[in-house]
Amino acid sequence: MSTLIIDSHCHAGKGDGLSGPWDTNAPLKDYLQWCNDAGVHRTVLFAALHADYARANFEVANIVRSDPGRFYGYAFLDAERDKGRIHSMVRTAVEEYHFCGIKVHRHDAPISREICAAARQFRLPVLYDVTGEIATVELLATEYPDINFIIPHLGTFSDNWSWQLSFIDHLVRHPNIYTDSSGVKRFDLFKMAYERAGAHKILFGSDGPWLHPGVELAKILYLKASPEEEALMLSGNFLRLTRQARSHQRQRQNQYHLHNQHLTKPPLATARL
Ligand SMILES: [Zn+2]
Repeated sequence: MSTLIIDSHCHAGKGDGLSGPWDTNAPLKDYLQWCNDAGVHRTVLFAALHADYARANFEVANIVRSDPGRFYGYAFLDAERDKGRIHSMVRTAVEEYHFCGIKVHRHDAPISREICAAARQFRLPVLYDVTGEIATVELLATEYPDINFIIPHLGTFSDNWSWQLSFIDHLVRHPNIYTDSSGVKRFDLFKMAYERAGAHKILFGSDGPWLHPGVELAKILYLKASPEEEALMLSGNFLRLTRQARSHQRQRQNQYHLHNQHLTKPPLATARL
């Protein structure tokens, strides 16, 4: 039986900017073909950079809903623009969209305590692109030891060797700090992260649809890990980090279906449990 492969980092939907693909458009058509070619079974989706994440998350929810066996969703949040509505956005994402994680990008604003409080309440991992602000990781790890943070690209998409090198130290020291493989160019540093921090701290992610999931996947395979360790990186770690969020969703869906068996139209309060 082949190992389940889940791409834990892919954007989807329209952006509302024109700076580059990252805030303009994230179409999945080619990406899904590439997944077929590379043997990637499932994908975690979240928005492109956007000025209104409530709208962008809704669009991602519709894509996830189109094939819930193929896609998972994360809620994208802007700590500044969404200030005051973070909790309600996360509640909508979890209860109505069945999302199982949070995405925050330092390009929008630095992560806030409001976001961490919502992650804690809904037991969601936070995928936070620190864009090279590595020291923040120390604060997140120690202030919120019960929240799991995935810091993509070894801390920076920009291949900055010294930032990525210093990030590996945080990855080794803090049990709640993880990383993904997406966009990491320096294979020697990626291998160092695996050897020093361990396979249980690394998630396969592609940063699709702009990067080819097969190319990103090759980096995991060339680590030449044991089949057990490889399985952790390819899907096991993601499934473990999102287990609580996903099991609550299943309970809610089961409650909903149970009520549906007895009532043609469940009371609204029940349907929204
Ligand atoms: Zn990304």
